[in-house]
Amino acid sequence: MSESVADVVVVGAGAIGASSAFQLASAGHRVTLVEALDGPAEGSTGRSFASIRGQWADELNVELSWRSIRAYRDFPAVHGIDVGYRPSGYLLLVSEPAWAAQLEAVELQRAHGVPVEVLPFAAAQERTPFETAGLGGTTWGPADGVVDPHLASSAYVELARARGAQVCYRSPVREIDPHADGGWSVRAGDRTIRTQYLVNAAGGWSGEVARLAGLDVPVVHSRRNVYSSAPGALDRAVPMTVDFTSGVYLRSDGSRLLFGGARPDEVDGYNVHVDWSWMEALLEAGTRRFPWLVDVPLDRAGCWAGTYENTPDHHGIVGPAPAAPTWINACGFSGHGMMQAPEIGRLVAEQITTGAITSVDASALRLERFTEARATRPVELVF
Ligand SMILES: Cc1cc2nc3c(=O)[nH]c(=O)nc-3n(C[C@H](O)[C@H](O)[C@H](O)COP(=O)(O)OP(=O)(O)OC[C@H]3O[C@@H](n4cnc5c(N)ncnc54)[C@H](O)[C@@H]3O)c2cc1C
Repeated sequence: MSESVADVVVVGAGAIGASSAFQLASAGHRVTLVEALDGPAEGSTGRSFASIRGQWADELNVELSWRSIRAYRDFPAVHGIDVGYRPSGYLLLVSEPAWAAQLEAVELQRAHGVPVEVLPFAAAQERTPFETAGLGGTTWGPADGVVDPHLASSAYVELARARGAQVCYRSPVREIDPHADGGWSVRAGDRTIRTQYLVNAAGGWSGEVARLAGLDVPVVHSRRNVYSSAPGALDRAVPMTVDFTSGVYLRSDGSRLLFGGARPDEVDGYNVHVDWSWMEALLEAGTRRFPWLVDVPLDRAGCWAGTYENTPDHHGIVGPAPAAPTWINACGFSGHGMMQAPEIGRLVAEQITTGAITSVDASALRLERFTEARATRPVELVF
């Protein structure tokens, strides 16, 4: 059993924990990053669809995503590392009832500098062929696209290590004891770490980690499936395309087509077995919008499932626990953690370094919103 001291222990080496460790180490904190599994990105991060977009309908999410996309874009210039950002674009097929709100969202996005275009159907169909029934219009984000979750997480871990962070894999946190001075003793694998701050970046396991310290953090696992065609099924690139009417989304990955969509009656809990019955239902819905799906050969071995780390309102939790100011949550991103990880790491470091987050108004992500009388943020379509 070894013992060590840190300013901050970050629990979890997914995209959020890795980015947080990097930002904290860059700010001069002594960081220890502990991960239960063998390396970075082995939780939700490594099972992600990896699509990133600045197209959101509220100011905070637009800012968090757009700043993060630019961080991924600028990674090679700033750090000399390519993390797989590709501006392959993001096409939203929006239903008639939602179209007026979508146009307002476009204005908001543009006001924040996000490149976004309203495309006529014909121009959108050149990117991804689709039927137009029930659609009010389409929008296109040319700077949106994909990032590589493994490359991004590994890069952040290595950059953190280069700035002095200790990185401990195969070190599951099993005990967390509070100290009278407000710090924590963290038992992780065969080591005990005495730390002032703890960052809970354990993804879908964040509720469990919080319970070790007697805290309540409402995050649950919820399975999502990614279905894949056989390689060679596509002879052209298909950008990330989301059909708001059916919830089906798809994009190409090389010559494969990947597609998915949330099952409304999915039962909460850790489950990474592919749901084949949902694939049939999804294909039926998807084929109405994208008739060419009928001809796409499937590759069962190429499919996978992972879990979203869901909160009750499907938005992340960032900031201190009300009962324990040195406990910093950075979890529960409910399917959009990849596209916001760079900026969330920066906010975590700002919180710990300065005692508050003031560079953006992130108050809507406070844990307290779940116990306050009414939700403080609009709920938008989450897919
Ligand atoms: C199928 C699928 C598709 C998705 N598509 C997208 C997308 O297109 N765009 C997007 O932005 N997001 C997407 N997401 C969501 C995104 O992947 C997550 O929001 C993000 O990866 C969360 O990162 P994280 O670091 O919070 O969690 P994780 O990656 O789960 O990392 C948490 C880490 O904590 C570790 N851990 C847990 N308990 C302990 C413990 N007790 N001790 C030590 N370590 C512990 C775990 O092993 C894990 O490595 C998708 C997710 C899935 C599953």
